[in-house]
Amino acid sequence: MKIVVVGAGAMGSLFGGLLAESGHSVTLVDVNAAHLQAIRAKGLHLQTDEGDRYVQGLRACLPSEATEPPELMLVFTKTLHTATALAGVRHLLHPDTHVLSLQNGLGHVEALSQHVAPDRVLIGVTTWPADLAGPGHVHSHGQGVVRMMAADGRDRPFVAAAAQALKQAGLSSTVDTAVWSAIWEKVAFNAALNSICTATQCTVDQLGALADGQALAFTVVDEVLSVARARGVTVRPEACKDRVADAIAHHIGHKPSMLQDMLAGRRTEIEAINGAVVAAAAAHGIAVPCTQTLLHIVRLMEARLAGTAAPAPSVH
Ligand code: NAD
Repeated sequence: MKIVVVGAGAMGSLFGGLLAESGHSVTLVDVNAAHLQAIRAKGLHLQTDEGDRYVQGLRACLPSEATEPPELMLVFTKTLHTATALAGVRHLLHPDTHVLSLQNGLGHVEALSQHVAPDRVLIGVTTWPADLAGPGHVHSHGQGVVRMMAADGRDRPFVAAAAQALKQAGLSSTVDTAVWSAIWEKVAFNAALNSICTATQCTVDQLGALADGQALAFTVVDEVLSVARARGVTVRPEACKDRVADAIAHHIGHKPSMLQDMLAGRRTEIEAINGAVVAAAAAHGIAVPCTQTLLHIVRLMEARLAGTAAPAPSVH
């Protein structure tokens, strides 16, 4: 399969590297010149439980340098860069190109549908972890899965073929029509842990220092999943809270990506996570006070870092 990965940071490089190793034609498209140069010079340095190696044969280029329309475009930018990234690869979108988002948060079907026909949009979720250790160097330890489906819910042969390609690459991928349940449960997990850790600058385990930390996280989970239910999505609050409790008990010293972004002075994915939940809650007339307060705190922190107290994009 001809595959273009747009946003070849930690996750995009992991997926692109594994897909290239399993024989697919992969182009990594990114705007990080140092990362691209390192991959072109030595190959992609990939460290996983399967070993420490350099993956060769990947093309790595800027958006304007990519020329060949793919069958599958995999979008793995941070959510706040999706629109710009898709605009940058508009010229690669052939009528036969399918676009898949496995990004965290909500709003991806709408963002991708701005650029491709709705029947070419694939949506999913992944539990694989990855970190960028330096230019051209990604590590990912532990196991994960990918669950995906056509965004319109139809049974399409290409979706099965794409899931099979990811599976053959070792990414444990399945077509799953219940994917919205998994997406909302992950949003609930992230809305709780990412935003509380960012607002408090606690690592995940430090939320266990007082009973209040876990209680606040559970309240956010309940709020988010009440919105999911209002949208007709079946969700399992107790299973989600078990995962939150497990993370607080075992993710010692872990800084969620939102906290890492804030500490590095970058904008975060708060709008696609808490922001999207608050907007959906408002549309259904549901109160989500803790999720909303955490959204406002993280927005204020971002505004302070940007050196401006500009008004938030919207007030709910
Ligand atoms: P990352 O920051 O490591 O990678 C994003 C990449 O996008 C960067 O290399 C950046 O240069 C690139 N980019 C930014 N603007 C671009 C543009 N206009 N055109 C092309 N490329 C552009 O992020 P990540 O950790 O790989 O996460 C990607 C997504 O996957 C996020 O939504 C994240 O929440 C989700 N996710 C991450 C993990 C994880 O463990 N890292 C796990 C599951 C889901």
